[in-house]
Amino acid sequence: MKTYYCWRCKKDMPFLEEDEWQQVSPHLTDAIRGIKEYRQKHGCDIATAHKYARPKAALLFEEITGMPGVQFDVIYHHRLADKGPECKKCGHLFRTPKASYCVNCGQTAEENK
Ligand SMILES: [Zn+2]
Ligand SMILES: [Zn+2]
Repeated sequence: MKTYYCWRCKKDMPFLEEDEWQQVSPHLTDAIRGIKEYRQKHGCDIATAHKYARPKAALLFEEITGMPGVQFDVIYHHRLADKGPECKKCGHLFRTPKASYCVNCGQTAEENK
């Protein structure tokens, strides 16, 4: 686990390294199923189901990162391998593995090698 600024959460957040991601990701699929089932059972909206379905993915994420209460849809975009390299100049992530420059400071992928 490493902490970086997350562009979507707009704050510093833990990102999962690949071995950690492998532990959590199977439960994300379960989480979607769990939320569907919860909704069918209780006839509630999706936000309520998110709150009460308590997927295992979130518990595992808490175990690994020490951060409780993170929704599974947030966990989804906290896979380090999807976020590209760390910028050697400013320490942010490039956002995608194919990004040609750092959105934060303008360092190019070529300069970052
Ligand atoms: Zn995020
Ligand atoms: Zn940068």
